[in-house]
Amino acid sequence: MRIPLAQPEIDEADIAAVTAVLRTGRLSLGPKLEEFEEALANYAGTSHAVAVSSGTAALHLCLRALGIGEGDEVIVPSFAFIAVANAVRYVGALPVFVDVDSETLNLDPERVDAAITPRTRAILVVHTFGVPAAMKEMQAIADRRRLFLLEDACEALGAEYGARRVGSLGIAGTFGFYPNKQITTGEGGAVVTSDLKLARKMRAARNQGRNESGAWLQHSEIGFNYRVSEMSCALGLEQLRRCDAVLHRREAVARRYTQKLSACPLLQTPPADLPFRKISWFAYVVRLREDLRGISRDCIVQAMAARGIGCGRYFAPVHLQPAYANEPHRCAGLSVTEAIAPRTVALPFFNALSEHEIGEVCETLMELASRMAAEKATGLPKNSQGPPATP
Ligand SMILES: *Cc1c(COP(=O)(O)O)cnc(C)c1O
Repeated sequence: MRIPLAQPEIDEADIAAVTAVLRTGRLSLGPKLEEFEEALANYAGTSHAVAVSSGTAALHLCLRALGIGEGDEVIVPSFAFIAVANAVRYVGALPVFVDVDSETLNLDPERVDAAITPRTRAILVVHTFGVPAAMKEMQAIADRRRLFLLEDACEALGAEYGARRVGSLGIAGTFGFYPNKQITTGEGGAVVTSDLKLARKMRAARNQGRNESGAWLQHSEIGFNYRVSEMSCALGLEQLRRCDAVLHRREAVARRYTQKLSACPLLQTPPADLPFRKISWFAYVVRLREDLRGISRDCIVQAMAARGIGCGRYFAPVHLQPAYANEPHRCAGLSVTEAIAPRTVALPFFNALSEHEIGEVCETLMELASRMAAEKATGLPKNSQGPPATP
């Protein structure tokens, strides 16, 4: 792709930090892990952070540490990355897919409330595309129904709800540092929490069930290898240091996109200013207008790719994925998800996207969308408005 969907930003300070770790010979469970965890907890506004090998591992450890398992239900969105539902399955619990709000694309609190059963243990809220979910409403539901409120903040590092950063609002929050995220460690993730017992459980489980104080080959439970290398932690520290500047630049890119695209009648731009919230821009996702329903997002993605521009299918609903055809789950009415998902297109989005590139993406997208719309209006597809066939 000439203009990729995403691209990490690696500078000389990042390279120097990783190289310095390599020269020490201490490549795992060292000082960089501790420093990175402390910096992450500070940034999120929690007492503890547990850094792990991926955002998916973070979700898994978190659900497991809360004792969620077989026979339990966890409320999740279907309009999300598949790792969210998979983590619920890893612990043997049932994902209950609930619909999203049509503006923010986050879980709809009213629908969440309606989907709760005596088996529900947790609401796993996802701050989709970096837009904070309706946490006040979610907290009220969780309190009233005595449920855990978990935040998947993997797309939302640095986003704010009221005076607080996401990840610090529920019992625990997860982050992911894959190279398409706001900051990257190559592969990596973390759980943040202010619950010491929970943090301890996750630290043990990430390292084959070893207690922090225990001897190296003393395992108090079956755990995992979800450790993250010192090189990744050193990279994460450098990236986190400039996170606020990064978020600033991403917001500027998003605003340029909106300026250029909001005049196009075929497209709907994402929300930019929401009360009580600061968005941490993860992706820039436009919607094809409803009257363009016949034009699939996948056609646009393909046509853009043919012009060298990488676009993303964010998201194909999880409950419609082949992986979930025979996997236990429950759907609690997903009409908004099913109506919106086929119309969402993620445009190239990264810190260093230039003004020129933004211009090219917008012009190409508007040209393709209007051409497809025109073809659709003039062509006479099989079962449309033509005169009824005489019997
Ligand atoms: C990126 C992401 C994750 C974690 O992904 P990993 O690739 O495992 O690091 C989890 N949830 C959501 C919503 C994500 O976007």
